[in-house]
Parts: sequence; structure tokens; C-alpha cells
Amino acid sequence: METKQIDYGELFIEFITTFKDNRGRLSYLNQINEIIAYRRKSFYVNFADLFSFNQNLATVLINSPKDIVPILEKKVYDYIIEKDPEYQYEISNIHLRILNIPRTVELRKIRSNEIGKLISVEGILVKSTPVKERLSKAVYQHISPDCMQEFYWPPDEEDMGEIIELPSSCPMCGKAGQFKLIEDKSTFVDYQKAVLQERPEEIPPGQLPRQLEVVFEDDLVDVARPGDRVKIVGILEIKKDSQVKRGSKSVFDFYLKVNSIEISQKVLDEVRISEEDEKKIKDLAKDPWIREKIISSIAPSIYGHWEIKEAIALSLFGGVSKILADGTRIRGDIHVLIIGDPGTAKSQILQFASRVAPRAVYTTGKGSTAAGLTATVTRDKNSGDFYLEAGALVLADGGVAVIDEIDKMRDDDRVAIHEAMEQQTVSIAKAGIVAKLNARATVIAAGNPKLGRYIKERGISENINLPPTILSRFDLIFILIDNPGDSDVYLASHILNVHGNRTTDQNAIEIDLLKKYIAYAKKNVFPKLSEEAKQLLQDFFVEMRRKSVETADSPIIITPRQLEALIRISEAYAKMALKGEVTKEDAERAINIMRIFLENVGLD
Ligand code: ADP
Ligand code: ZN
Ligand code: MG
Repeated sequence: METKQIDYGELFIEFITTFKDNRGRLSYLNQINEIIAYRRKSFYVNFADLFSFNQNLATVLINSPKDIVPILEKKVYDYIIEKDPEYQYEISNIHLRILNIPRTVELRKIRSNEIGKLISVEGILVKSTPVKERLSKAVYQHISPDCMQEFYWPPDEEDMGEIIELPSSCPMCGKAGQFKLIEDKSTFVDYQKAVLQERPEEIPPGQLPRQLEVVFEDDLVDVARPGDRVKIVGILEIKKDSQVKRGSKSVFDFYLKVNSIEISQKVLDEVRISEEDEKKIKDLAKDPWIREKIISSIAPSIYGHWEIKEAIALSLFGGVSKILADGTRIRGDIHVLIIGDPGTAKSQILQFASRVAPRAVYTTGKGSTAAGLTATVTRDKNSGDFYLEAGALVLADGGVAVIDEIDKMRDDDRVAIHEAMEQQTVSIAKAGIVAKLNARATVIAAGNPKLGRYIKERGISENINLPPTILSRFDLIFILIDNPGDSDVYLASHILNVHGNRTTDQNAIEIDLLKKYIAYAKKNVFPKLSEEAKQLLQDFFVEMRRKSVETADSPIIITPRQLEALIRISEAYAKMALKGEVTKEDAERAINIMRIFLENVGLD
């Protein structure tokens, strides 16, 4: 007798009207009042709250959302219009959106047993279509002189997807014939498709990233943009969008009908730092030689190249980004470029950088996807839909874009990368799509000399296939020349040792800890310039400017950009030692590495 139907609708109203949060407030009842006041369309429920209220209801919700959600939504809607009858004239239905459900499925582990269930997935949005209008309730007219009647289609609250199957005969008169859509009387809902992809850190080495199509509707469209890292709750569905006759197709794709979406703001939440880790990190920072230790832990299997490792370390830590009073943002990211002869371990160093950075996207100048380095509009071959697709710098938003062979980048990127590296946004206007995406990424790049080998007698811009305008956006540039000579003995023995698996540096910080150290510094340390440091940087900048005027054909023009670079680099040195203040010593180090860079590219 206990197995009789539970009235989930009633239960849900009881939940709304009685559930108290940990501060004793009726938070859901408050939300209902806000929905009424602001004419919102969505009611958000934290899964844990519902679970603690009634496990049964919560479980049914996860397992049979398609049956239960419409019931609950109707109940909430009725409850709202009972409180405020005016609401129904402005908003025709309410969405129940569930947050924080425990069933998080990895994109590569989605299987058919999840179909029809409410699941949670995490990833990065790589592309999305513009917002379109989907017919949610169509009104058709039977075009026949004997009938001409109008009817709603489909008759019940069925979800139509992208394809509408018209009735074979008129529901009003029963005869077959032609039906015409009456647009003015039909209801449409905002509709957007997007593609979710595994986060770069989650892709097993050497494998292609997995993707999942997701569909946003109504107030969820345009909430997230390509490049955003998101957590999505949705119902796993089978795609039936291709025009095939019933029964003729047996292999289908999945898609996720989105129920709720959260955009992850916390840039470094991917790296978990335990209390024990934190202690280790703080202990490391006490070492007066911590910076040397960090630098020598960058690609320890590579012999020499100290300044390059130093530059990579600076770039991984970065400076402090600033928002000026007028809203302008000054980047804190330190962009580094290595130009070098073939076989000088550039790619090896870059790969190391992408492994140790808390968030990184590794690519080549040509780009590993159609979107290249910045962004593009692509067209899906099957559906014909246009998508705005994020490129490497957008996907690396909040992290590092590691770009090997940057000199081979495409022409579109050559134009767009200027904005991406300085304003840290990517603007696009193509095929009717106009958008601006965030690209707050640090660029660590390498390129090969235009002529095969670097020719010292010529200037830097003659040696690399990159315009000066792009070169000037790098804070540090190093040139690696393969010089056969005295150090070859050491180089050889170093490589032989590495191959013999002999640890070359007992002191190197192990890569996982270094990653955590960097994440910790980026999250917690925001050093400020001391007066002494400011003075030093100012004097040096003035001196550089004077010299650059004297050297007529200098390859790098000294502009305020270099002063900003100096500030960032000083901040990065302070961050490396977890210091809250940029001291004179940090500024001296910054000046020193800037000098090496300028001498390197032929300005001294
Ligand atoms: P690049 O990208 O500059 O053309 P790679 O990174 O592909 O060069 O390096 C070629 C190979 O030479 C790699 O296996 C690398 O480990 C080795 N190598 C080159 N220079 C060094 C060095 N200084 N120390 C150790 N190995 C090196
Ligand atoms: Zn008819
Ligand atoms: Mg290479």
C-alpha cells in the first residue's frame, strides 16, 4: 500500500516553502520572490539541498528528468502565478535548473547507459553557433479549400529537436495535403549549439581531445563564450537531426541538452594544493637561492641555455595584471620568444613549459585546429551550421599558450595576434558572426630562422619570418645559435647521462611540486613595486631610450612597452620567491635579463 504514487509536485512545493539554508533563511522562497520581482525565467536548485530534503525526489530527478522536470516546472509555475497572476502574461513557462549534481561524467567516459539521465560534465567550450530560433510550438494551416483549418503541432508537449515531422494527415479533417506554417501564431525559443571539449590538462598524452555537442535554450543562450571553462548539467540525448526515415539509421551521436551552466572563474582551481603541499612550498621559498633552484628545474634534461630557462620561469610566474582607473587592463603576462637554429632543444623546452604550467595549451604556428591561434568561423560539413571557434590563445585564456614554430602561423592569425597579445582579446566579424573573446594568455613561443640558420650579421627581423609589430609584443626574445665548440664535451656528456637515465640534477624541484608552486604563487602573491625598485627601473628605461636613439637602425624600438615589460619581469622575480614586495634586487635582476635580451638581439 506504501507503493502508491508519490506526489512529487506537492513534495517540491513543500521543499520550496520550508527549506532553510545553513543560516536559517528560506532561500528558495526568497528566490521565488526574486523571480516574480525581476521576471526571471529560471528557478535554480542546488542538488545537495534537495537531496537532504528528500532523497527519493532527488534520485528520481537524476534518473528520470524528462518525466519529472516538466511536472515540477508546472507546479512551480502555478505556484508563482498564484502569488502574482500578472507573471503569466509576461512569461509562459519556468525552467527548473539544477546545480551541483554529483554525477560528473568525464567526456571520454560518456556511454549509452547515461541516455535520458541528468549528468554533469566539465570542459572547455570550443565553438558555438550564433543564436537561432527554434520552433517550440508550431501552428500549421491545412492548405485545402475544404479545410483551411489551423492546428498546433506537435499535439503534445513533445520535444521536437531540429527536425519537425509533419503529420501525414490533417488532424482537423483527417485528409492528407499541404500544411503551411503560420509563423505569427507559432512560438519560438532562443536556441544555440555549442561544442564542449575536454580540458587540455585532461587529455591523455598523444590522444585527440573528445568533444560533445551541447544545446542551450532560452535564457541560457550566449551565457558562455568559446574559450570559457564550464561545468554543465544536462540531459544526455540522442541526436536525431539528420533527415533520415524512421528505422533507416542505427548509429547515432550524443548531445547534451543543457539544464544549467556554470562558468569557472577561478583560473587555478585545476591544481589542488593540499596543506602538506603548502608547507613544502613555503619551505622552498625560504631558500635564498629559490630562484636559481626554480630556473635549474626548468627542463633539467637540457644542458645550458640558462637565460632561456630563466625567461621561461619568469613567464610561468608572470607579473601582476592591472586594471587602471579608466577600466583599461594592462597585462601581467610575460610573453617570451625563442628564435633558434634547428636542433637546439627549443621544442623540448617548450614541451616542458606546457607540462609545468598550471594551465596550458600546446600548439604549433599552423594551429592544431581550424581555428588556428586566434579564432575563426567554421562551417559544419554535416549540418551546414556556422560556428565561432576558439583558437589556441582563446583556449589558453587564464593560462599559457605554448606555440612552437610560430613563424609558420597563418595570415589571418598574423593580423589577429596583435590584439590577442596586447589587449588580450580576439575580435572577429565573419559570416554574420560578430564577437569578442577573451585571450588572457601568456605566450611562450619558438621559431626557426628564416634562412635555416641564424645569421648574426643580420638584424633579427631579417632572420625570422615575423613582422616587427609582432616581435615588439614579446617581453623577452632570445636567440639560440648552435655553436660547435668547447662546451660540446659537456653537452655530449649531459645528453649521454640523460639517456643513461642518470639524474642530472639532484637539486631540481620535481615537476608536480613546481607546478603547484607556480599555481600557489599566481593565486596568492601580488607583489607591489617598492620606491627603490621604481627608481631603478625608471633610470634604466631613460638610459635605454637614449641609447636606442643613438643606434639608428636598432631592431627593437624602445617604447614604454619595454618599461611595462621591466615592471612585469621584476614582479615575476618577486613572485618566484613568494614576496609581496618588488625589491631593489628584483629590479636589478629584471634589468640584467633585459640587458641580455637587448644585447642578444643586437642593441647595446
Ligand atoms: P629544435 O626544436 O630546436 O629544433 P629539439 O627540441 O627538437 O630542437 O631538439 C632536438 C634534440 O636535441 C632533442 O632530443 C634534444 O633533447 C636534443 N638537444 C639539443 N640541444 C640540447 C641540449 N642543450 N641539451 C640536451 N639535449 C639537447
Ligand atoms: Zn484539414
Ligand atoms: Mg622544433
